[in-house]
Amino acid sequence: MIQLYIPLNFLGVLYREIKQSLTDLDKMFTLLDREREIADAPGAPELALDGPPEVRFESVRFAYEPAREILHGISFTVPAGKTVAVVGPSGSGKSTLARLLYRFYDVGGAAMAPDAAGAIRIAGQDIRQVTQSSLRRAIGIVPQDTVLFNDSIGYNIRYGRPDASREEMVAAAQAAHIHDFIEKLPKGYDTVVGERGLKLSGGEKQRVAIARTLLKNPPILIFDEATSALDSANERAIQSELRSAARDKTALVIAHRLSTVVDAHEIIVLEQGQIVERGAHAELLARNGRYAQMWALQQSGAEEAVVMQADA
Ligand code: ADP
Ligand code: MG
Repeated sequence: MIQLYIPLNFLGVLYREIKQSLTDLDKMFTLLDREREIADAPGAPELALDGPPEVRFESVRFAYEPAREILHGISFTVPAGKTVAVVGPSGSGKSTLARLLYRFYDVGGAAMAPDAAGAIRIAGQDIRQVTQSSLRRAIGIVPQDTVLFNDSIGYNIRYGRPDASREEMVAAAQAAHIHDFIEKLPKGYDTVVGERGLKLSGGEKQRVAIARTLLKNPPILIFDEATSALDSANERAIQSELRSAARDKTALVIAHRLSTVVDAHEIIVLEQGQIVERGAHAELLARNGRYAQMWALQQSGAEEAVVMQADA
């Protein structure tokens, strides 16, 4: 009995260890998968920042696949500490702009000569020429579809800033209106979420991503339809948190609800990978073009229809 018991117990430990390292491998490959083609230039320096920087897209072109260019030469500048908003129909390339700024892909993409692809610069530095880790430390992104790590919900929030205190983590979760929900979970912040844990709804995942970004508190923010999965009461409350988070930051805000971009320094209307209109809210209304049309539709109570069209 005793002889049998020990090896079995040992096997149990071994099994748990193997399982744990498989989970970690899994995590690693998911990350590697995204970054296979993106590498640091040899000897690349860190991104040098001195407060919220200017972000500049210079004639950026991009294709996921060789025969299909998605962005056809996009230029705009987000001045230091300002917010630029991007609006436009589904498929126009808005999320692609966000992915390029975070350097999930390099400008150009599939089969395009690098010198024809344009550039993205942060405080004058081409983001291809600095280390990815320094770039990503400087940027907080709330993506359209959040994928959480198969780890505790606390880990997922702290991922934004692993050395944050519990108080800071809770404050971020409260600002993202997810704290009360977490407190009610069986293990609170230690509850494991993700594919092999508790399944969260789209809106709950989005709020975890918002908490993570608020906790990280970086100089550059990207919100990609950051509240699109929330009900309108939650959305209004969190929008005001996001607005105050972006106050002194350089922010690229992709919006599905135009009411959230009224104050933006500049609004860019993107259609099929091209900028078709640009300006401040009042200027765009006065122009009576695409933006004014979209605005009128959303104001007339047909808002839900327009939002759905934009999210389709
Ligand atoms: P938006 O955010 O404005 O809805 P996206 O930037 O997500 O638009 O997509 C722009 C275009 O690129 C769409 O036609 C979409 O189908 C295509 N696209 C997006 N992601 C990929 C991908 N990973 N591979 C190939 N095509 C893609
Ligand atoms: Mg999108």
